[in-house]
Amino acid sequence: MRLSEMTIHQLRELLRAGEVSSREILDAVFAKIDAVEDEVGAYLTLCRDEAVAQAERADEMLAAGEASPLCGIPFAVKDNFSTVGVRTTCASRLLENYIPPFDAEAVTRLKQAGAVLVGKTNLDEFGLGSSTENSQFHCTRNPWDLSRVPGGSSGGSAAAVAAGEAAAALGTDTGGSIRQPAAFCGIVGLKPTYGLVSRYGVVAAADSLDHVGPITRDVRDAALVLQAIAGWDPKDPTSARGDVPDYEAALTGDVKGLVVGLPQELMGAELDSEVKEAVYGAANLLESLGVRVEEVSLPHAEYAMAAFYVIISAEISSNLARFDGVRFGYRAEAEDTVSMFIKTREALGQEAKRRILMGTYFLQAKNYEAYYLKALKVRTLIKEDFEKVFQRCHVIISPTTPTAAFAFGHKTRTPVTMYQSDIYTCTANLAGIPALTVPCGYTGEGLPIGLQFMGKPFDESTVLQVGHAYEQHAGLPVRQPQTEVKTNG
Ligand code: GLN
Repeated sequence: MRLSEMTIHQLRELLRAGEVSSREILDAVFAKIDAVEDEVGAYLTLCRDEAVAQAERADEMLAAGEASPLCGIPFAVKDNFSTVGVRTTCASRLLENYIPPFDAEAVTRLKQAGAVLVGKTNLDEFGLGSSTENSQFHCTRNPWDLSRVPGGSSGGSAAAVAAGEAAAALGTDTGGSIRQPAAFCGIVGLKPTYGLVSRYGVVAAADSLDHVGPITRDVRDAALVLQAIAGWDPKDPTSARGDVPDYEAALTGDVKGLVVGLPQELMGAELDSEVKEAVYGAANLLESLGVRVEEVSLPHAEYAMAAFYVIISAEISSNLARFDGVRFGYRAEAEDTVSMFIKTREALGQEAKRRILMGTYFLQAKNYEAYYLKALKVRTLIKEDFEKVFQRCHVIISPTTPTAAFAFGHKTRTPVTMYQSDIYTCTANLAGIPALTVPCGYTGEGLPIGLQFMGKPFDESTVLQVGHAYEQHAGLPVRQPQTEVKTNG
């Protein structure tokens, strides 16, 4: 196996044994980038020189006995995380040349552990979308099938990890933007509990729904990255206090006696039959490991998507107000201030404008009660649905997405079909609970399918434990993304 394909824990062993250096791993990753990036387009900015310096420093740290499993590991970061000295665009023309003066807290923690920042990955503008087609710079292709989307909005991060262009990545997830692209790209993605990982320095889409989390090649790697980034941050007022458990220690492989719920509402008519079959297959496998799988009900889940899009639009419309040509980034030339505001904001993409329009509408005094307030009430009901199920179950499973990766342009004309991509993921954002996606099979066309595991607030350990046990026993046939086949050939 090549260095660019290995997991963090495999690389950790090689680094500790002195069989390879961080610099060699980085060179392998850049060789991969040079081979496939023209086709995949995962990155918006590469940090070659800085990365070399960081890798050399990581080698010194390792020689001095640094124990972090992330030391010397090349990672990618979605381009809505502030990075000191490296432009942070949110895939928007408004921030095309914006260079932040500080690092987001999650990036700081990875760097402190000795991880090496390879570059900033593509996304839907400001995280708005489910295919990365809303990037104002370029499209990212799915490494498994270059004619299809990688998912979104963290599509660049997922594609980079799947194509061997980074060992792991950070993403953000507002309604599914870590889990959906990870599922489409055949890898693992974790959205932690709201408040567990600091959002300081992450450009906000919707504050009450945004989460920071890892995109990795397997569940153990997700545990390792989470360990490094989780925990209280006084700079983020929504950050939770409390001890961070040892996540890797939870990966015992033993799940006997646990109860897993399978909500029928998340197996609806929109679900593709191949995905459905894969999820039932996974449920059977979990039973064979000694888990009790029970049918459960989340009666308000059918309203989740509607409530989600009202809340996210309301929050986004207010968050995007700061991009007015005065404080950050792009400013249009105009005769007076008001025309300058207007012309500057014309540079926003179509989806961002649509959300601003919708959000402003929902928040108008005459509409507020009928839309925004009602959506908040639905959100509470959804949270209560989960609480009831978690009185009986340790974990809930569901498909991550209704279909596998779709073709470019397939959903761009009808926004609501694009919005449906989040139908199974956005409930976890509304409730703030942890949710993990793990590959659980392939479609007849060879596209990866994702299985979602959701858990109680701050119980990432059990979610990772069950996800890991499933992954270890699933015995999926080893397949390679299209880019891998090409570079081998
Ligand atoms: N797809 C959803 C949206 O477009 C959620 C995106 C996300 O999770 N950032 O808003």
